[in-house]
Amino acid sequence: MTQRAFLIPLILLLCIGSSMPSEASERPSPDFMLDATAKVQGEFFIATVSGITSAPDLWFKEENFTMFRQKNGSYRALVPVENMTSPGSYAFLVKKEKWEEKVPVTVASNNLPVQKIWLDKKTNSLKATKEEKAQVKAALRTLSDTKLWSGPFIYPSNGRKSSPFGVKRSYNGAPVSSYHKGLDIAVPQGTPVKSPAKGKVVLTGYESNRFHVHGNTVVVDHGHGLTSIYMHLHTISVNEGDMLEKGDTLGTVGSTGISTGPHLHWGTYLYGTSVDPELLVRNEY
Ligand SMILES: [Zn+2]
Repeated sequence: MTQRAFLIPLILLLCIGSSMPSEASERPSPDFMLDATAKVQGEFFIATVSGITSAPDLWFKEENFTMFRQKNGSYRALVPVENMTSPGSYAFLVKKEKWEEKVPVTVASNNLPVQKIWLDKKTNSLKATKEEKAQVKAALRTLSDTKLWSGPFIYPSNGRKSSPFGVKRSYNGAPVSSYHKGLDIAVPQGTPVKSPAKGKVVLTGYESNRFHVHGNTVVVDHGHGLTSIYMHLHTISVNEGDMLEKGDTLGTVGSTGISTGPHLHWGTYLYGTSVDPELLVRNEY
């Protein structure tokens, strides 16, 4: 039998197989989609499941991600690739009752330089207080069902970008232990800081109330696991619970907390993991 003659019956068999009445044809099997199978450290995957009536379970790197219902009825999660993730192969796993899919993906280095920082003993020992750490962490992990943002983000302040997101940091000659979890914008003290998208204020923290490292801080929840933070503010003009439209002022630029001069530190987070804010300005999600 030629190869072709062999293929035709096989195709026929497959067609018959898929048209046979079964549980699967009554309830079409869900469809799992990723926007790409490769990402760079500090970016995020867009995972979507359609053809399903309630949220499936989604895992990436052994972490479970809540999927949120979209207007079109599908479920979606913007899954962060933490900036310190080792480049290599990983997989997404998605499950709902008897349906399960595993999709291999890869993560590449963002090739950002390592910044060597030398601190004197006194500065090196300055640490965030328990209170500020716990409150900031909880606020950045807010998961809310309503997607408040739409369209691309705007920059909260326009000015010179003095330090990009993701630069890896080594302190006093030790191995890389952390990275810059936001974008620094150098603008004069008193410059208004605007909400880059619609959101709800979930935290206001004050230097005078133990926010020694972050300084005066605001965290905004944009919904569906996306939050943003504004640090080292001179003044804060909002309260927890306030709803902000895109462009509403939330405070002014300052140099409170550990800061070498007036600048805005702007961070964006998905499920509590920082991602590059520039992505949200460049694209619509
Ligand atoms: Zn910064």
